[in-house]
Amino acid sequence: MSTVPVGPERPPAAPLQEPAGPPALAPDTTAGPRIWTNWARTVTAFPGSVHLPAGRAAVIEVVREVAERGSRLKVVGAGQSPSGIAAPDPGTDLVSLSRHSRVLDLDVTRDEVTVEAGIRIDALVGFLAARGWALPTLGAVAQTVAGALSTAGHGSGDGSLDRYLTALEIVDAAGRVHDLSPDTDRSAFDASRPGLGALGVLTAATLRVVPAFTLCATVTAVSLDRALAEMDSLVEAERARLFWYPHTDRVLVWRAHRTAQAPHPPSALRSVADRLATAVHQAALWGSAAVPALMPLVNRAAASGLLASRRTVVDTGDRVLTSPEGIPRQVLEYGVPAESAREVVRQLRRAVARGRVRAPAPVELQFGPAETGWLNPAYGRRTCWVGVVGYRPFGRAAECASWFATAGSVLAAADGRPHWASPHAHGAADLAARYARWDDFADVRARMDPDGLFANAYLDRVLGARRPPGRRAAPRPR
Ligand SMILES: Cc1cc2nc3c(=O)[nH]c(=O)nc-3n(C[C@H](O)[C@H](O)[C@H](O)COP(=O)(O)OP(=O)(O)OC[C@H]3O[C@@H](n4cnc5c(N)ncnc54)[C@H](O)[C@@H]3O)c2cc1C
Repeated sequence: MSTVPVGPERPPAAPLQEPAGPPALAPDTTAGPRIWTNWARTVTAFPGSVHLPAGRAAVIEVVREVAERGSRLKVVGAGQSPSGIAAPDPGTDLVSLSRHSRVLDLDVTRDEVTVEAGIRIDALVGFLAARGWALPTLGAVAQTVAGALSTAGHGSGDGSLDRYLTALEIVDAAGRVHDLSPDTDRSAFDASRPGLGALGVLTAATLRVVPAFTLCATVTAVSLDRALAEMDSLVEAERARLFWYPHTDRVLVWRAHRTAQAPHPPSALRSVADRLATAVHQAALWGSAAVPALMPLVNRAAASGLLASRRTVVDTGDRVLTSPEGIPRQVLEYGVPAESAREVVRQLRRAVARGRVRAPAPVELQFGPAETGWLNPAYGRRTCWVGVVGYRPFGRAAECASWFATAGSVLAAADGRPHWASPHAHGAADLAARYARWDDFADVRARMDPDGLFANAYLDRVLGARRPPGRRAAPRPR
C-alpha cells in the first residue's frame, strides 16, 4: 500500500505534540489572566481570549466569531520567534493549533507527507524517521510547521522549508478555505511562502519528503583570514556553517555530507558530557553578562571547547541537523546576497576591533539557494544567512543592544533582508524596497484579509496600512 493514512482518530491522552522548554502559552485557556510569552522570553502579550480549536471546522468557527466581534485574531505557533511577529495585541484573540497537529497522510509514491499545520517539526521528524523518511531541510525543530512556513524557516544548504511545500490549506478572514498549490492559485501560494501569519490560518500543509539519510559531520577550526579567503571552498559541502567568535581570530567550520556508513548515535556518556559542557558555557555566559569585559575570554574558551568536544559525528540526518535548543538566546538574522558575505564579516570584524561594541556570542553564516516565495528573504538570490547571536543565560540578558544595532546596520546596508522571526526594526517603506513582489503580496493580503483580522502591532509596522487591491505603492529609491 503506497499511502499510509495516519491517525484517523484525534489522539487522546498523549498528543503528538508535546511542549518542550518553557510553555508559550500560560496559564490555561479558560480563567485567570492570560499571558503569552515567546521562547526567548523577550516578548510578552496579554490576549483577551484564547482558542484551541481541533479540526478545520472549529478553526473556521473561531475565525468567523472573532471577525464578527471586530477583534483581531493572532495565530501562534510554538512562540519560537524572537520578534513580536506572533504576539497578539493586548485584549485581542489568540488561537493556537496545538490541538490541530496530526500527520494526515504519508504518500510514499509521491514522496509527500500531509500534516495538520499545528504539528511541531520534531514530532513530524520522529514520525518520518520511524518509517524511513526525512524532511529535506531542517532548522529549529521545536517550532511548528505553520510557524516555519510563515517565517521562511530554513536549514543549511537545502533552503527553506517552504521550498518543499506542494500544497497548503488556509482559512481566510471570511472563513473561506483555500486549497493552494502551484496549479490552483499560484499568486496566493507564492504569497503564503511565507505569509507572516497575515493571510489567514494555515490548517494543513503537504511537504516533500526524502528517504532517511545518514550524515557525516566534521568540525574544524581555521583563522578568520583563511575563512574569508577560502569561504567558497569551505562552504562547498552539501551542508556547511561557519561560526566566527568575535574578539577572536577563530572560525569553526561545520560541514556535513551524506555517507553510507552506519550511524553512531552519541553514547549516554557523551550526551551527559555535552549537557555538562552546555551548563558550564551557560554559567560562563552568565558571568560575562555580569562583567562584559569577560566576553572575549568566554568566546575564546567556547570556540576551543566546542572544537575539543566533538570533531566528527556520523549519525542519522535528523539527529545531526537538529541540536537541542540549548541556551536561551535571541538571534538577529538577515539574508544577504551570498557574494556579500565576506565583506559583511570584514565590516563586523572592524566594528568589534574599534572597541565600541562587545559581542557576546558567535556570528553564524549559512548558505542557501535562491527561493521563489515572494517574501522569503532569499527570494531571487543565493543567500548567506548571517545570524548574530545574543544569549540570555539563566534568563539574564547579555548586553547586546549596541552589537545588534551595529550588526543590523551593516547587514541592512549590504542589501540584507531581515529574517521575519528576528528582532529587527525595519518598517514597511524600507522593506518594500527590498522585495520585488511586495505589492503583489499586498494584493493577495487585501483579498484574503481586507480588514486586518490577522494583524498585530508587528505586522502593522512591517507590512504597513492595508490598501485596496490594485493600487501600487509609490516606487522608492534604492
Ligand atoms: C532555538 C531556536 C533555533 C532556531 N533556529 C532556526 C533556524 O535554524 N532557521 C530558521 O529559519 N529559524 C530558526 N529559528 C527561528 C524559528 O524557526 C522561527 O521563529 C519559527 O519558524 C517560528 O515557528 P513557531 O512555531 O515558533 O511560530 P511562532 O513564532 O509562534 O509564530 C511565527 C509566525 O507564524 C504565524 N503562524 C503560526 N502558526 C500559524 C498558522 N497555523 N497559520 C498562520 N500563521 C501561523 C504566527 O502568526 C507568526 O506570524 C530558531 C528559533 C529558536 C528559538
